[in-house]
Amino acid sequence: MEKDKLPVLFIGHGSPMNAMLDNQFTRAMARLGEGLPKPRAILCVSAHWLTEGELLLSGAAEFETIYDFRGFPEELYRITYAPPPARTAADRTAALFRPAPLITGRGLDHGAWTVLRMLYPGADVPVCQLSVDYPAAGKYHYDLGRRLARLRGEGVLIIGSGNIVHNLELMDRDIAAPPEDWNLAFDLKVKEYIDGGRRAELAAYEDMPGGNLAVPTADHYWPFLVALGAGGEDKASYPYEGYQHASLSMRAIQFG
Ligand code: ZN
Repeated sequence: MEKDKLPVLFIGHGSPMNAMLDNQFTRAMARLGEGLPKPRAILCVSAHWLTEGELLLSGAAEFETIYDFRGFPEELYRITYAPPPARTAADRTAALFRPAPLITGRGLDHGAWTVLRMLYPGADVPVCQLSVDYPAAGKYHYDLGRRLARLRGEGVLIIGSGNIVHNLELMDRDIAAPPEDWNLAFDLKVKEYIDGGRRAELAAYEDMPGGNLAVPTADHYWPFLVALGAGGEDKASYPYEGYQHASLSMRAIQFG
């Protein structure tokens, strides 16, 4: 890794329940967090902030914890995570785009806070969130990641939070249910492409075998492409490889 260049992370976040569970995934995330440098700021791209035809940033105000899910135990709605807003990183990110995204006072959605809380439980690293321009094509998100990559040299840790395989219709209620064959096959195919120098091809997931079953809607896949683009050609390692609810891949990736 280039001197002073931070790694890039992609985290499969799965169910919000992980925020209050102790399982292999949450333990792997805690271990990952312990080994990470303390960056100047975190830029998080989560599947749960979708915009249409524009990009927005958050980081203008203190973060409210957003509970953007329903039907979970009361305890989950009492967890708060309020890191300081990363105003400088938000400004630097905004400057990479024309037109520059507006920096808003939006809080952190669960795609961001459930993951950040495991990695940085002290909530002491400033955070900003960048939205996902949902209708844009895969190549757009991959190229957007490549554009963000320069922030890695400025002390910004880029984290994508989604799931490589995310099919809610075929979900098993049991979080520990083993993965369906098509889930496993697609997830491992993605890993093979990453490690085999075929990263750009991952933008067209619909052309890959099983792509439409693994990615019925692309909301959780786009943050992966952003992280993939930001990771450049850096070697990938996998802090966690696993599955939840039969139809989710919880794969976590570290580039660099
Ligand atoms: Zn999600």
